[in-house]
Amino acid sequence: MPQPTPAGTLVVGAGQAGVQLAGSLRQLGDRSPITLVGAEPHPPYQRPPLSKDFLTGSVAADSLAFRAPAWYVQQRIALVRGDRVVEVALPERGRPGTARTAGGRTLRFARLALTVGARPRRLDVPGAGLDGVHYLRDLDDAVRLRENLDAAARVVVVGGGFIGLEAAAAARALGKQVTVVEATDRLAPRAVAPVVSEFLRCAHERRGTTVLLGAEVVGFGGAGRVEAVRLADGRELAAHLVLVGVGVVPRTELAEAIGLECDDEIGGIVTDDAARTSHRAVVAAGDCTALPHPVTGEGRVRLESVPGAVAQAGTAAATLLGRAPGPRAVPWFWSNQGDLRLQIAGLSTGYDSVAVRGEPGGESLTALYYRDGALIAVDAVNAPADYLVVRKALATGRTLPADKAVDASTPLKNLLAG
Ligand SMILES: Cc1cc2nc3c(=O)[nH]c(=O)nc-3n(C[C@H](O)[C@H](O)[C@H](O)COP(=O)(O)OP(=O)(O)OC[C@H]3O[C@@H](n4cnc5c(N)ncnc54)[C@H](O)[C@@H]3O)c2cc1C
Repeated sequence: MPQPTPAGTLVVGAGQAGVQLAGSLRQLGDRSPITLVGAEPHPPYQRPPLSKDFLTGSVAADSLAFRAPAWYVQQRIALVRGDRVVEVALPERGRPGTARTAGGRTLRFARLALTVGARPRRLDVPGAGLDGVHYLRDLDDAVRLRENLDAAARVVVVGGGFIGLEAAAAARALGKQVTVVEATDRLAPRAVAPVVSEFLRCAHERRGTTVLLGAEVVGFGGAGRVEAVRLADGRELAAHLVLVGVGVVPRTELAEAIGLECDDEIGGIVTDDAARTSHRAVVAAGDCTALPHPVTGEGRVRLESVPGAVAQAGTAAATLLGRAPGPRAVPWFWSNQGDLRLQIAGLSTGYDSVAVRGEPGGESLTALYYRDGALIAVDAVNAPADYLVVRKALATGRTLPADKAVDASTPLKNLLAG
């Protein structure tokens, strides 16, 4: 018979944000019980390698864990793996809250943190259920994908966002014939400026990947197993394996069931900049949230990144302990697509001009984003020195003159000094 746990903090979701939040509580001196529940059976692990080194086989599953099992014991974090919280009742009139799991546990809590992440957006087209049509979010997905990649000569990646491009590069590294199919007219359209999209298209094509833009997938063909990808214009692409990477949907069902505010437009559990939800006993962090723009505070964003999850989880831990959140950090992100190392700092949403260093057809490129003349973000591919300078400028509230920044022969650090 499962024992009820003592009231303390219950963290639902043992991914990047959940593990960080539990660890931050201990770091900040919290001595009360912490229970961390994760639906996946594996020790909590990092997702980024799943579309990169894990796919190519250069990293093994057991090296992905955030922490050794002993760490949870030392930190007195009760880790429950392979069980899913299915129902929550919030604390009321001095009574602790309770959470029920699919495995029959009842967990009591005084404070609740939702770090439940996101699920891949599904493609709702005929043939989407055929064998060989894959999605990539968790380790089990990645293991299946890797096993199936072995026997696949032709791979089609649906979606030209970062995960799709990373996986495409990994499949190329394994010698596969790879086609990326993107519905819009450019790669990674939500994340980067057109010039960076064009750079990525050229660079991936030079490495042997075929990129089809403005190509909408309307179905998959095959008898039991996928054999073809059908496009709206009538074309059919032969495929032994398909990876669909068309974005994620934040998991908001638990939050909705307990009446927390969720964002109708961008999705996600609404939090303020202290990671508080609309209920005072509940915080949320990571991919499941819609938070105030971390730089301007105007409007809400979903960050979907490791650094975003880590920062927000740290803030959530401070909030649970009644501490003020730390200063706002500059958001940052990376995407390694084979030997293309993309680094992003700041948020480019709302930019009105871009200063470009390098050529779209070259091997490195930096795009500096400005709004009303102020520097707001950078995308740097294979240009780590540029990235570091702009990140420093953003962190210290400085700008870099766009007219001088476009001269790639002038190191950006000289402009920062000036
Ligand atoms: C293949 C891949 C590559 C990526 N590459 C990069 C990268 O290069 N750089 C970068 O910055 N970011 C990258 N990301 C994004 C990054 O991994 C996520 O932003 C980050 O993992 C978000 O952390 P999270 O804790 O919010 O969610 P998750 O890591 O998804 O963790 C949420 C956990 O909660 C569990 N859960 C959900 N509901 C329940 C429930 N009811 N009960 C119990 N448990 C539950 C889920 O099973 C999951 O394990 C990548 C993501 C993927 C999938």
